[in-house]
Amino acid sequence: MQTLVQPLPGIRGKDLLVDSYTSSTLNQVTGLRQKFIRKLIWLNILLVATRLFRNPIVALKKVSALKALRNRYRNDKPLPKYARSGNRYFVNFNTPGWPSPAFNRYVSHYLRRHGNVEGNSLSTLIFAITKKCGFQCEHCCEWLNLNKPETLSRENLLSIVNRFHQLGIAQVQLSGGEPLNRYKDILFLLDNAPKGVDFWIYTTGHSLNAQKARQLKRRGLTGITISLDHHQEAAHNTFRGVDDAYQKAMAATAYARNAGLATCFSLCATRAFISEENLKQYMELARRMGVSFVQVLEPKAVGHYAGMDVGITIAHQQMIEGFYQKYNYDPAYSDYPAIAYHGYTTREFGCTGSGADYVYADTDGDIHNCPFCQRKLFSALDPSLPELIQQMKTKGCSAFSSCSTKN
Ligand code: SF4
Repeated sequence: MQTLVQPLPGIRGKDLLVDSYTSSTLNQVTGLRQKFIRKLIWLNILLVATRLFRNPIVALKKVSALKALRNRYRNDKPLPKYARSGNRYFVNFNTPGWPSPAFNRYVSHYLRRHGNVEGNSLSTLIFAITKKCGFQCEHCCEWLNLNKPETLSRENLLSIVNRFHQLGIAQVQLSGGEPLNRYKDILFLLDNAPKGVDFWIYTTGHSLNAQKARQLKRRGLTGITISLDHHQEAAHNTFRGVDDAYQKAMAATAYARNAGLATCFSLCATRAFISEENLKQYMELARRMGVSFVQVLEPKAVGHYAGMDVGITIAHQQMIEGFYQKYNYDPAYSDYPAIAYHGYTTREFGCTGSGADYVYADTDGDIHNCPFCQRKLFSALDPSLPELIQQMKTKGCSAFSSCSTKN
Protein backbone atom coordinates (compact mmCIF):
# COMPACT_ATOMS: atom_id res chain seq x y z
CA MET A 1 0.00 0.00 0.00
CA GLN A 2 1.25 3.48 -0.83
CA THR A 3 0.30 6.97 0.24
CA LEU A 4 0.97 10.34 -1.30
CA VAL A 5 2.94 12.80 0.80
CA GLN A 6 1.64 16.35 0.70
CA PRO A 7 2.15 17.81 -2.81
CA LEU A 8 4.91 20.35 -3.21
CA PRO A 9 5.23 23.00 -5.91
CA GLY A 10 6.35 21.61 -9.23
CA ILE A 11 6.71 17.97 -8.18
CA ARG A 12 4.72 15.41 -10.09
CA GLY A 13 2.37 13.41 -7.87
CA LYS A 14 3.77 10.04 -8.88
CA ASP A 15 7.23 11.13 -7.71
CA LEU A 16 5.89 11.50 -4.20
CA LEU A 17 4.41 8.06 -3.66
CA VAL A 18 5.83 6.77 -0.43
CA ASP A 19 5.36 3.28 0.97
CA SER A 20 2.87 3.56 3.76
CA TYR A 21 5.02 1.78 6.34
CA THR A 22 7.49 4.62 6.14
CA SER A 23 5.23 7.50 5.18
CA SER A 24 4.88 10.68 7.19
CA THR A 25 5.30 9.85 10.86
CA LEU A 26 5.41 6.08 10.64
CA ASN A 27 9.15 5.60 10.32
CA GLN A 28 9.75 6.60 13.95
CA VAL A 29 9.54 3.85 16.54
CA THR A 30 8.31 5.05 19.92
CA GLY A 31 6.70 3.88 23.17
CA LEU A 32 6.99 0.34 24.50
CA ARG A 33 8.33 -0.98 21.23
CA GLN A 34 11.22 1.46 21.31
CA LYS A 35 11.94 0.61 24.96
CA PHE A 36 12.03 -3.08 24.10
CA ILE A 37 14.35 -2.47 21.15
CA ARG A 38 16.58 -0.34 23.41
CA LYS A 39 16.98 -3.30 25.78
CA LEU A 40 17.91 -5.58 22.90
CA ILE A 41 20.44 -3.04 21.64
CA TRP A 42 22.13 -2.85 25.06
CA LEU A 43 22.19 -6.63 25.24
CA ASN A 44 23.86 -6.63 21.83
CA ILE A 45 26.38 -4.04 23.06
CA LEU A 46 27.17 -6.23 26.07
CA LEU A 47 27.83 -9.19 23.78
CA VAL A 48 30.18 -7.12 21.62
CA ALA A 49 31.99 -5.96 24.77
CA THR A 50 32.28 -9.51 26.11
CA ARG A 51 33.82 -10.61 22.82
CA LEU A 52 36.23 -7.67 22.85
CA PHE A 53 37.37 -7.84 26.47
CA ARG A 54 37.02 -11.64 26.90
CA ASN A 55 35.83 -11.12 30.46
CA PRO A 56 32.13 -10.55 31.32
CA ILE A 57 32.90 -8.47 34.44
CA VAL A 58 35.23 -6.14 32.54
CA ALA A 59 32.71 -6.01 29.70
CA LEU A 60 29.93 -5.02 32.09
CA LYS A 61 32.07 -2.23 33.57
CA LYS A 62 33.02 -0.89 30.13
CA VAL A 63 29.40 -0.94 28.96
CA SER A 64 28.33 0.89 32.14
CA ALA A 65 30.97 3.54 31.46
CA LEU A 66 29.73 3.85 27.88
CA LYS A 67 26.17 4.26 29.14
CA ALA A 68 27.26 7.01 31.53
CA LEU A 69 29.00 8.79 28.65
CA ARG A 70 25.88 8.44 26.50
CA ASN A 71 23.78 9.93 29.30
CA ARG A 72 26.17 12.88 29.52
CA TYR A 73 25.79 13.44 25.75
CA ARG A 74 22.03 13.53 26.17
CA ASN A 75 21.96 15.58 29.39
CA ASP A 76 20.39 12.51 31.03
CA LYS A 77 17.32 12.77 28.83
CA PRO A 78 16.07 9.49 27.36
CA LEU A 79 15.71 9.34 23.58
CA PRO A 80 11.99 8.82 22.89
CA LYS A 81 12.34 7.54 19.30
CA TYR A 82 14.40 5.50 16.87
CA ALA A 83 14.17 5.78 13.10
CA ARG A 84 13.28 2.64 11.25
CA SER A 85 14.48 1.81 7.76
CA GLY A 86 13.70 -1.65 6.45
CA ASN A 87 14.46 -4.11 9.23
CA ARG A 88 16.90 -1.87 11.01
CA TYR A 89 16.59 0.76 13.75
CA PHE A 90 18.70 3.89 13.79
CA VAL A 91 19.45 5.50 17.14
CA ASN A 92 20.79 8.60 15.39
CA PHE A 93 22.22 9.73 12.08
CA ASN A 94 25.82 8.81 12.89
CA THR A 95 25.18 5.32 14.21
CA PRO A 96 24.75 2.40 11.79
CA GLY A 97 21.38 0.70 11.88
CA TRP A 98 20.79 -2.08 14.40
CA PRO A 99 20.98 -5.04 14.07
CA SER A 100 23.92 -5.29 11.69
CA PRO A 101 27.62 -6.12 11.55
CA ALA A 102 28.19 -2.37 10.94
CA PHE A 103 26.49 -1.57 14.25
CA ASN A 104 28.74 -4.10 16.02
CA ARG A 105 31.85 -2.57 14.44
CA TYR A 106 30.67 0.88 15.51
CA VAL A 107 30.16 -0.28 19.11
CA SER A 108 33.53 -1.96 19.06
CA HIS A 109 35.15 1.34 18.03
CA TYR A 110 33.52 3.22 20.91
CA LEU A 111 34.43 0.54 23.42
CA ARG A 112 38.02 0.71 22.21
CA ARG A 113 38.16 4.48 22.16
CA HIS A 114 36.63 5.01 25.59
CA GLY A 115 37.86 1.77 27.13
CA ASN A 116 41.56 2.59 26.60
CA VAL A 117 42.10 -0.35 24.27
CA GLU A 118 45.36 -0.01 22.39
CA GLY A 119 45.45 0.10 18.61
CA ASN A 120 43.79 1.96 15.81
CA SER A 121 40.07 2.38 15.59
CA LEU A 122 37.73 4.64 13.63
CA SER A 123 34.00 4.70 13.05
CA THR A 124 33.54 6.74 9.86
CA LEU A 125 35.24 7.69 6.62
CA ILE A 126 33.86 10.74 4.83
CA PHE A 127 35.09 10.24 1.29
CA ALA A 128 34.86 12.84 -1.50
CA ILE A 129 34.94 10.55 -4.52
CA THR A 130 34.62 13.06 -7.37
CA LYS A 131 35.52 16.61 -8.35
CA LYS A 132 32.61 16.80 -10.80
CA CYS A 133 29.68 19.00 -9.90
CA GLY A 134 27.26 21.20 -11.84
CA PHE A 135 26.10 23.21 -8.81
CA GLN A 136 27.41 26.56 -7.53
CA CYS A 137 26.53 26.32 -3.85
CA GLU A 138 27.40 29.39 -1.85
CA HIS A 139 28.93 27.38 1.03
CA CYS A 140 30.83 24.73 -1.01
CA CYS A 141 34.01 23.71 0.85
CA GLU A 142 35.38 21.87 -2.22
CA TRP A 143 34.91 24.94 -4.43
CA LEU A 144 38.55 25.32 -5.44
CA ASN A 145 38.82 21.67 -6.55
CA LEU A 146 35.60 21.34 -8.51
CA ASN A 147 35.54 20.12 -12.09
CA LYS A 148 39.27 19.46 -12.33
CA PRO A 149 40.46 16.12 -13.76
CA GLU A 150 39.83 13.14 -11.48
CA THR A 151 42.94 11.61 -9.93
CA LEU A 152 41.44 8.52 -8.28
CA SER A 153 40.46 5.45 -10.32
CA ARG A 154 37.64 3.24 -9.11
CA GLU A 155 40.30 0.76 -7.95
CA ASN A 156 41.87 3.55 -5.88
CA LEU A 157 38.47 4.28 -4.34
CA LEU A 158 38.03 0.64 -3.39
CA SER A 159 41.57 0.35 -2.08
CA ILE A 160 40.98 3.34 0.22
CA VAL A 161 37.71 1.90 1.52
CA ASN A 162 39.47 -1.46 2.12
CA ARG A 163 42.28 0.22 4.04
CA PHE A 164 39.86 2.03 6.30
CA HIS A 165 37.83 -1.12 6.76
CA GLN A 166 40.97 -2.68 8.22
CA LEU A 167 41.13 0.27 10.61
CA GLY A 168 37.66 -0.60 11.87
CA ILE A 169 35.26 1.82 10.15
CA ALA A 170 31.56 1.03 10.28
CA GLN A 171 30.30 3.80 7.99
CA VAL A 172 31.36 5.47 4.72
CA GLN A 173 29.76 8.72 3.65
CA LEU A 174 30.40 9.29 -0.04
CA SER A 175 30.56 12.98 -0.94
CA GLY A 176 32.22 15.10 -3.60
CA GLY A 177 31.63 17.08 -5.81
CA GLU A 178 28.39 15.38 -6.62
CA PRO A 179 29.03 11.68 -5.91
CA LEU A 180 26.21 10.50 -8.18
CA ASN A 181 28.36 11.74 -11.08
CA ARG A 182 30.36 8.55 -10.41
CA TYR A 183 27.27 6.40 -10.26
CA LYS A 184 28.85 3.31 -11.86
CA ASP A 185 31.85 3.57 -9.56
CA ILE A 186 29.52 3.74 -6.56
CA LEU A 187 27.94 0.48 -7.72
CA PHE A 188 31.43 -0.97 -8.09
CA LEU A 189 32.23 0.08 -4.52
CA LEU A 190 28.99 -1.36 -3.16
CA ASP A 191 29.62 -4.64 -4.98
CA ASN A 192 33.23 -5.03 -3.91
CA ALA A 193 33.67 -3.30 -0.56
CA PRO A 194 34.05 -5.57 2.44
CA LYS A 195 30.85 -6.26 4.35
CA GLY A 196 30.04 -4.74 7.69
CA VAL A 197 30.05 -1.10 6.56
CA ASP A 198 27.05 1.17 6.03
CA PHE A 199 27.34 3.33 2.91
CA TRP A 200 25.58 6.70 2.66
CA ILE A 201 25.62 9.13 -0.27
CA TYR A 202 25.71 12.86 0.40
CA THR A 203 24.02 14.39 -2.65
CA THR A 204 22.00 17.22 -4.16
CA GLY A 205 19.79 14.43 -5.50
CA HIS A 206 19.95 16.02 -8.92
CA SER A 207 20.54 12.91 -11.02
CA LEU A 208 18.75 10.40 -8.80
CA ASN A 209 15.74 8.65 -10.28
CA ALA A 210 13.51 5.81 -9.16
CA GLN A 211 15.48 3.14 -10.99
CA LYS A 212 18.84 4.29 -9.60
CA ALA A 213 17.46 4.51 -6.08
CA ARG A 214 16.16 0.94 -6.28
CA GLN A 215 19.44 -0.29 -7.78
CA LEU A 216 21.47 1.41 -5.05
CA LYS A 217 19.28 -0.17 -2.39
CA ARG A 218 19.62 -3.60 -3.97
CA ARG A 219 23.42 -3.25 -4.06
CA GLY A 220 23.49 -2.49 -0.34
CA LEU A 221 23.37 1.29 0.06
CA THR A 222 22.06 2.27 3.51
CA GLY A 223 20.92 5.83 3.00
CA ILE A 224 20.94 9.11 1.18
CA THR A 225 21.68 12.50 2.70
CA ILE A 226 20.05 15.17 0.57
CA SER A 227 21.34 18.72 0.75
CA LEU A 228 18.43 21.04 1.42
CA ASP A 229 19.28 24.52 2.61
CA HIS A 230 15.85 26.07 2.80
CA HIS A 231 12.23 24.97 3.04
CA GLN A 232 11.37 27.64 0.45
CA GLU A 233 11.99 26.59 -3.13
CA ALA A 234 13.36 29.89 -4.43
CA ALA A 235 15.72 30.36 -1.47
CA HIS A 236 17.17 26.83 -1.84
CA ASN A 237 17.63 27.29 -5.59
CA THR A 238 19.42 30.60 -5.07
CA PHE A 239 21.69 29.09 -2.41
CA ARG A 240 22.58 26.20 -4.72
CA GLY A 241 22.86 28.29 -7.89
CA VAL A 242 20.58 25.91 -9.85
CA ASP A 243 16.98 26.63 -10.90
CA ASP A 244 15.46 23.22 -10.22
CA ALA A 245 17.64 22.24 -7.23
CA TYR A 246 14.67 22.15 -4.84
CA GLN A 247 12.41 20.13 -7.11
CA LYS A 248 15.17 17.60 -7.72
CA ALA A 249 15.95 17.37 -4.00
CA MET A 250 12.28 16.70 -3.19
CA ALA A 251 11.91 14.13 -5.93
CA ALA A 252 15.17 12.41 -4.87
CA THR A 253 13.86 12.17 -1.32
CA ALA A 254 10.72 10.44 -2.53
CA TYR A 255 12.69 8.10 -4.82
CA ALA A 256 15.03 7.17 -1.98
CA ARG A 257 12.19 6.51 0.44
CA ASN A 258 10.21 4.51 -2.07
CA ALA A 259 13.29 2.37 -2.61
CA GLY A 260 13.54 1.71 1.15
CA LEU A 261 16.66 3.80 1.75
CA ALA A 262 17.16 5.74 4.98
CA THR A 263 17.04 9.49 4.33
CA CYS A 264 18.44 12.64 5.87
CA PHE A 265 18.17 16.33 4.99
CA SER A 266 21.38 18.31 5.43
CA LEU A 267 21.00 22.02 6.14
CA CYS A 268 23.75 24.64 6.06
CA ALA A 269 22.24 27.04 8.61
CA THR A 270 23.36 30.52 7.60
CA ARG A 271 22.69 33.76 9.45
CA ALA A 272 20.12 34.64 6.78
CA PHE A 273 18.28 31.36 7.39
CA ILE A 274 18.30 31.05 11.15
CA SER A 275 15.03 32.10 12.77
CA GLU A 276 12.49 30.25 14.91
CA GLU A 277 10.03 30.34 12.02
CA ASN A 278 12.46 29.01 9.40
CA LEU A 279 13.69 26.21 11.64
CA LYS A 280 10.12 25.26 12.45
CA GLN A 281 9.03 25.29 8.80
CA TYR A 282 12.10 23.29 7.81
CA MET A 283 11.27 20.60 10.38
CA GLU A 284 7.66 20.54 9.18
CA LEU A 285 8.85 19.92 5.64
CA ALA A 286 11.28 17.23 6.79
CA ARG A 287 8.46 15.51 8.66
CA ARG A 288 6.12 15.77 5.69
CA MET A 289 8.72 14.25 3.41
CA GLY A 290 9.23 11.46 5.94
CA VAL A 291 13.01 11.78 6.27
CA SER A 292 14.60 9.98 9.17
CA PHE A 293 17.09 12.70 10.15
CA VAL A 294 18.00 16.34 9.75
CA GLN A 295 21.66 17.30 9.90
CA VAL A 296 22.48 20.93 10.72
CA LEU A 297 25.87 22.26 9.65
CA GLU A 298 27.30 25.66 10.53
CA PRO A 299 28.86 27.68 7.70
CA LYS A 300 32.67 27.91 7.74
CA ALA A 301 34.86 30.46 5.97
CA VAL A 302 36.44 27.95 3.59
CA GLY A 303 36.06 27.09 -0.11
CA HIS A 304 33.42 29.32 -1.70
CA TYR A 305 33.03 31.17 1.63
CA ALA A 306 36.81 31.68 2.05
CA GLY A 307 37.68 35.07 3.50
CA MET A 308 34.04 35.86 4.28
CA ASP A 309 32.50 36.58 7.64
CA VAL A 310 29.95 33.75 7.66
CA GLY A 311 30.16 32.44 11.23
CA ILE A 312 26.89 32.35 13.12
CA THR A 313 26.47 34.10 16.46
CA ILE A 314 26.09 32.50 19.89
CA ALA A 315 22.42 33.52 19.83
CA HIS A 316 22.02 31.62 16.54
CA GLN A 317 23.76 28.59 18.00
CA GLN A 318 21.52 28.67 21.05
CA MET A 319 18.43 28.84 18.88
CA ILE A 320 19.50 25.75 16.92
CA GLU A 321 20.45 24.01 20.18
CA GLY A 322 16.92 24.68 21.46
CA PHE A 323 15.52 22.95 18.38
CA TYR A 324 18.02 20.13 18.75
CA GLN A 325 16.95 19.48 22.35
CA LYS A 326 13.24 19.83 21.65
CA TYR A 327 12.96 17.73 18.50
CA ASN A 328 15.27 15.01 19.80
CA TYR A 329 14.18 14.57 23.40
CA ASP A 330 10.68 15.98 23.88
CA PRO A 331 8.23 13.07 23.40
CA ALA A 332 5.73 15.54 21.93
CA TYR A 333 8.08 15.74 18.89
CA SER A 334 8.54 11.99 18.51
CA ASP A 335 7.05 11.96 15.04
CA TYR A 336 9.64 14.41 13.69
CA PRO A 337 13.07 13.46 12.39
CA ALA A 338 15.90 13.48 14.92
CA ILE A 339 18.42 16.32 14.51
CA ALA A 340 22.20 15.87 14.26
CA TYR A 341 23.93 19.13 15.20
CA HIS A 342 27.70 18.64 15.08
CA GLY A 343 28.45 22.23 16.09
CA TYR A 344 26.72 21.67 19.43
CA THR A 345 28.21 18.25 20.15
CA THR A 346 31.68 19.48 19.18
CA ARG A 347 31.45 22.50 21.49
CA GLU A 348 30.08 20.41 24.36
CA PHE A 349 32.01 17.19 24.08
CA GLY A 350 34.97 17.81 21.79
CA CYS A 351 35.73 17.28 18.13
CA THR A 352 35.17 13.81 16.74
CA GLY A 353 37.27 14.45 13.61
CA SER A 354 41.07 14.12 13.44
CA GLY A 355 40.75 10.36 13.65
CA ALA A 356 38.93 10.39 17.02
CA ASP A 357 35.85 8.95 15.30
CA TYR A 358 36.22 9.97 11.68
CA VAL A 359 38.54 11.35 9.01
CA TYR A 360 37.96 13.05 5.69
CA ALA A 361 39.51 11.80 2.44
CA ASP A 362 39.46 14.38 -0.36
CA THR A 363 39.09 13.84 -4.10
CA ASP A 364 42.83 13.13 -4.40
CA GLY A 365 42.68 10.52 -1.63
CA ASP A 366 44.46 12.87 0.78
CA ILE A 367 43.42 12.79 4.42
CA HIS A 368 42.23 15.84 6.37
CA ASN A 369 41.11 16.19 9.97
CA CYS A 370 37.63 17.08 8.72
CA PRO A 371 35.98 18.40 5.53
CA PHE A 372 36.43 22.01 6.66
CA CYS A 373 40.11 21.99 7.67
CA GLN A 374 41.36 22.16 4.08
CA ARG A 375 44.74 20.84 5.13
CA LYS A 376 46.10 17.81 3.30
CA LEU A 377 47.96 15.67 5.83
CA PHE A 378 48.94 12.45 4.02
CA SER A 379 47.70 10.08 1.34
CA ALA A 380 45.19 7.37 2.21
CA LEU A 381 47.23 5.18 -0.16
CA ASP A 382 50.41 5.60 1.93
CA PRO A 383 51.65 2.16 3.12
CA SER A 384 52.05 3.64 6.64
CA LEU A 385 48.38 4.63 6.90
CA PRO A 386 47.78 3.05 10.36
CA GLU A 387 50.79 4.88 11.87
CA LEU A 388 49.82 8.15 10.18
CA ILE A 389 46.28 7.91 11.52
CA GLN A 390 47.67 7.23 14.98
CA GLN A 391 49.82 10.39 14.75
CA MET A 392 46.80 12.34 13.54
CA LYS A 393 44.80 11.22 16.58
CA THR A 394 47.58 12.36 18.87
CA LYS A 395 48.03 15.76 17.26
CA GLY A 396 44.33 16.65 16.86
CA CYS A 397 43.36 19.85 15.09
CA SER A 398 43.04 23.49 16.04
CA ALA A 399 41.71 24.90 12.74
CA PHE A 400 38.55 26.10 14.45
CA SER A 401 38.20 27.21 18.03
CA SER A 402 35.27 24.82 18.47
CA CYS A 403 37.57 21.91 17.62
CA SER A 404 39.54 22.12 20.84
CA THR A 405 39.29 18.72 22.45
CA LYS A 406 37.20 18.52 25.60
CA ASN A 407 36.72 14.85 26.24
S1 SF4 B 1 28.51 21.91 -2.08
FE1 SF4 B 1 28.39 19.97 -3.17
S2 SF4 B 1 26.78 20.29 -4.66
FE2 SF4 B 1 27.38 22.29 -3.99
S3 SF4 B 1 28.95 22.99 -5.46
FE3 SF4 B 1 30.01 22.01 -3.75
S4 SF4 B 1 30.30 19.91 -4.36
FE4 SF4 B 1 28.70 20.78 -5.70
